[in-house]
Amino acid sequence: LQMKWTLTIGKVAGIPIKLHFNWFLTAGLVAWALSAAYFPQTYPGWQTETYWLVGTASAALFFLSVLLHELGHSITAQREGVVVNSITLFVFGGVAYIAEEPPTAGAEFRIVAAGPLTSLFLAALFFTVSWTGTLGPLLSGAAAYLGQMNVVLALFNLLPGFPLDGGRILRSALWKWMGDFRRATHWASRAGVGLSIVFIALGVGLIVWGDLFSGGWVAFVGWFLGTAARDGYREADTQAEADMTALSEMEGLRIRAGGLSFTSSARTGFDLPSAEPAHSYVFVPARKSCPKCQDSSSYE
Ligand SMILES: [Zn+2]
Repeated sequence: LQMKWTLTIGKVAGIPIKLHFNWFLTAGLVAWALSAAYFPQTYPGWQTETYWLVGTASAALFFLSVLLHELGHSITAQREGVVVNSITLFVFGGVAYIAEEPPTAGAEFRIVAAGPLTSLFLAALFFTVSWTGTLGPLLSGAAAYLGQMNVVLALFNLLPGFPLDGGRILRSALWKWMGDFRRATHWASRAGVGLSIVFIALGVGLIVWGDLFSGGWVAFVGWFLGTAARDGYREADTQAEADMTALSEMEGLRIRAGGLSFTSSARTGFDLPSAEPAHSYVFVPARKSCPKCQDSSSYE
């Protein structure tokens, strides 16, 4: 079971780490937005090459943070006796493919919680580096940015709608309460659909307000989440048991998909399991290029 169009870059804890070709799009976008917009606007007075060096390094550390979030899920899964097939970084973040459903609601809770906890730990680490201030304004700024991004990664993924981590936690609680995995998935997925509608409305609002890029991205992520959530409860309703679970991130949402073939999904256009694509999310801090949003330090 493999995503098509991936490049294996190594192994951690026996888990193959892969890059999907569409990840390069996001990587380039984040590096560009940091180097050409966010850092020059926020910390003026440095040379263009310096911005690109710091911007590219920051983008690399950001994606390393995403990978560590996935590893948080994955290593906890291994400790719970669940096999992890691979971790793939793709356009919206990361996905950890897990070979089976966790044995209990408690195991599911621990596997899911490990991702956001990893991100919060990384945030504390980056903020500490930033606050010591020994690196000078630009590098301290980069560390602060990475701290913020890890907080965003944790909080976004903790929103209580399946397939986000928060939705998984909701499901594990419902599972414990109802004693029924499928019904728990059904209701957590409904919450996910509700969340996706909020995101699409928010995205449309931003577009109307004049922030075309951020609005488009938020709406797109909302649509993507909705697709994944609907597939989640459709599957919960029609299928007794899944062959495979994937934890997907941008932070890590878990994908539960039965008997899937990793063919290109016509609906999403990504080579993801057609059942439940990922919840991942990237904030691209290019907000200040928007003429209507001149406020000093905001970024998306
Ligand atoms: Zn996660």
